[in-house]
Amino acid sequence: MEITAQNLKINITNGIIRDIQAGNPASNLYLSPRFIDLHCHLREPGGEAKETLQTGIKSAFNGGYGTIFAMPNTNPACDNPDTLKYILSRAENPYAVTVKPVCAITTGLAGSALTDFETLAALGTGWFSNDGKPVEDMELLKNALKKAKKANVLIISHAENTAFPPQDPHSEYTAVEREIEAVRQTDGRLHFAHISTKKSIELIRKAKKKGLNITAETAPHYFTFSRDDITSADGRFKMNPPLREPDDVIAVKEGLKDGTIDIIATDHAPHTREEKLRPYGKSPFGITGFETAFSLGYTNLVLTGVLTIEELINKFVYAPAEIARLKIHGLKTGERAEFNIIDLSEKYTVHGENFKTKCKITPYEGLELTGKVIQTVIGDRVYDLRKREK
Ligand SMILES: [Zn+2]
Repeated sequence: MEITAQNLKINITNGIIRDIQAGNPASNLYLSPRFIDLHCHLREPGGEAKETLQTGIKSAFNGGYGTIFAMPNTNPACDNPDTLKYILSRAENPYAVTVKPVCAITTGLAGSALTDFETLAALGTGWFSNDGKPVEDMELLKNALKKAKKANVLIISHAENTAFPPQDPHSEYTAVEREIEAVRQTDGRLHFAHISTKKSIELIRKAKKKGLNITAETAPHYFTFSRDDITSADGRFKMNPPLREPDDVIAVKEGLKDGTIDIIATDHAPHTREEKLRPYGKSPFGITGFETAFSLGYTNLVLTGVLTIEELINKFVYAPAEIARLKIHGLKTGERAEFNIIDLSEKYTVHGENFKTKCKITPYEGLELTGKVIQTVIGDRVYDLRKREK
């Protein structure tokens, strides 16, 4: 099999890459390693009506993802070896999607007892987060950072100051400010999830310049929409952090461009149709993300000149791999083939009903996007992601 794309021309025999040469700049196709998502919610155990590990995996596969980090706010929470092993056992799948469970920082995502970082890290990913809830106690956060440093594990922060309502930008940036200070005092390492405000981005930029060990992510909705774009009174545009002002959207794009924001994660957070169609005030936080993330990035960041295609792929693959200390494979001579074929000219309209995730309600419904992962190659198999299987 020979594939000629814009960036590479590759030759595969028996599932092994035999040869890689320069591509043809006139091609619409682009080859990338499979994407890595450092932030999603797969809901199992406990939330199977919203998503199961298998529907989440199918959805991720359909969006071009090969590795996904699942947050621990399940029921029970992933704060103990049994739940962690249960998730891993339920996550085996035919699509070679690797699910990496993130474990809770504190027992039950509450209280003050730190989980057993060393034991959980040995069984799993070495990522810890209370995502969905902040760790607001400064001493507890500092203890977590110190313990994480000793155990060589990573802390992901859902930075929120609950003294303010989520719509108030203070709710994010005052928490970011406090947590940067905790990192400074402990010489720890912290990854900020879903950064959405201009002020937070300025704080992170400054902290990085000072050499603090901080990384940050945003999600596609924060560079796609401002609150001016909310067109419905139900919960389809409801997520936490919420959509911000147009100025914040500009700042998110600048942060992505200058590297203050290292990666794009999905924060894929499905709910049932009934839950998302409730009035805004009564609907839970969270929208789906796997199946639209790349197209939103290409349409809103590359076609608008914010990032090059290489910089976008960096935010989806290489930078997350570096943060998570994963090795990229599948697109080098001599290796078993494992990569995405992206069609940069593919135009389509988003219809939630076509998603593989259980949650078909999306704020992107009807949006016209350009650029899509059309196929994933694994060994000698080519999976067509445009086909709508049941
Ligand atoms: Zn969160």
